[in-house]
Amino acid sequence: AFSSCRPKVCVVGSGPAGFYTAQHLIKGRQDVEVDIYEQLPVPFGLVRFGVAPDHPEVKNVINTFTQTAKHARCNFYGNVNVGKDVSVQELQQAYHAVILSYGAEGNRRMGIPGEDLAGVYSAKDFVGWYNGLPSCRELSPDLNCDTAVILGQGNVALDIARILLSPTDILKKTDITHPALEALTESKVRRVLIVGRRGPMQVACTIKELREMVKLPGTRPELVQADFEGVAQALPDLPRPRKRLTELMFKAAVEPPAKDEQERRSKASRSWGLRFFRSPAMVLPNPDGTKAAAIRLAVNKLEGSGEAARAVLTDEVEDVTCGLVISSIGYKSLLIDSSVPFDSGKAIVPNQMGRVQQAPGLYCSGWLKTGPTGVIATTMNNSFDTARSLMEDLDSGNLDMSAAKSGAQHIRTLLEERGVKPVTFSDWEKIDSVEVKRGESTGKPREKLLTVENMLQVAWA
Ligand code: FAD
Repeated sequence: AFSSCRPKVCVVGSGPAGFYTAQHLIKGRQDVEVDIYEQLPVPFGLVRFGVAPDHPEVKNVINTFTQTAKHARCNFYGNVNVGKDVSVQELQQAYHAVILSYGAEGNRRMGIPGEDLAGVYSAKDFVGWYNGLPSCRELSPDLNCDTAVILGQGNVALDIARILLSPTDILKKTDITHPALEALTESKVRRVLIVGRRGPMQVACTIKELREMVKLPGTRPELVQADFEGVAQALPDLPRPRKRLTELMFKAAVEPPAKDEQERRSKASRSWGLRFFRSPAMVLPNPDGTKAAAIRLAVNKLEGSGEAARAVLTDEVEDVTCGLVISSIGYKSLLIDSSVPFDSGKAIVPNQMGRVQQAPGLYCSGWLKTGPTGVIATTMNNSFDTARSLMEDLDSGNLDMSAAKSGAQHIRTLLEERGVKPVTFSDWEKIDSVEVKRGESTGKPREKLLTVENMLQVAWA
């Protein structure tokens, strides 16, 4: 399948998936051109708006993404909302291939009474708030209570617990937003309970995040010894990462602390705890019904063991007084354009190795492809796989290359007609340098701009 025209490809979304897919294509073929469309004026998706502010090392991937964006065969178009400003079909007409990498912008709901009361937030919004996601700017969560309950025991839950309990002296040196830092400085939250449906041997977090909790200055662990019954006996047979994680938890819960640790704990003014075998049943309102005052948890028992163990409800319930409830039970991909095949049960685009089923020329990568699990490295690998599938299709002639495509030229005309002005990568670099400068006076790596309006102003100044 010989063709003389250059393959023009576009990527929708500029998170890790978008950038890693683009990188692999550009590296793998000397002729392919890649345009990246992003709804926000700023790139990098959850690396900017998800990853915790006190984990700056994780954000180093931005350097690699920047190299890709500056490659001669790559272009970035921010401030373009695909599905609204331009349709996926229009992109398909303008490009030989379209790769959907727009992540998981929705959140799974608990589906319990009281979920919409004031004081109840999704992890996605809460994280978006402290990380400066424009749509979450006005969340202003009420931190005027003693106890916060987080539902879910994955890394996102632990990130939130850590941010809620960290001494603000630590946070003020990060890129956490100024309003969040102020709110956390005033926060009355002294106790955070992290609730999971199953037991200590089924938690979804990783050891790094748990160790950070165990060592968090000014806090002590509050774990229930009885939850660890049988754990010591099961330890030797656990697979290695799970074993180390469980050992760490077991030690913190059951073993008497050494003298200096005991001293550290006795001085701590804040605490965190993992609560096992509990499912959220309802959020209970305060007397005048205006906001959350407690959460009712249903007590579970485990059936089976290991990773496959199931939580089964008992008749027992337990009420925990708390003014702040954060549900951290998962993100969820959304359908952005009705022409795209979508499996609403699994909330992913149905695909084989990144090839969208029954849609030649359409591909997907990242959380939209796999569902919202896995770290950046996982996302990188599945994005490389998608790029490989696309290149195979180019080699085999499975991708229609019979006509030259107009690419960004045509799309830019459409956008102009619709009054949409894209943000280029050098525009973003202006935003970047303003943010870095704003941070300098207070010793922060950056002080993020918090509204789209503000970002655009700086980009086009
Ligand atoms: P995203 O990063 O979400 O990128 C999707 C992009 O698409 C976004 O920029 C979005 O604005 C854009 N988009 C959405 N809709 C449209 C549209 N209609 N048109 C145009 N663009 C659109 N991993 C780690 O390795 N270490 C960590 O410390 C870590 N911390 C995390 C903390 C949190 C709170 C979360 C949620 C995840 C964390 N992860 C971490 C996981 C990591 O963020 C993901 O693996 C990765 O970001 C997924 O990449 P993605 O590109 O699929 O999605």
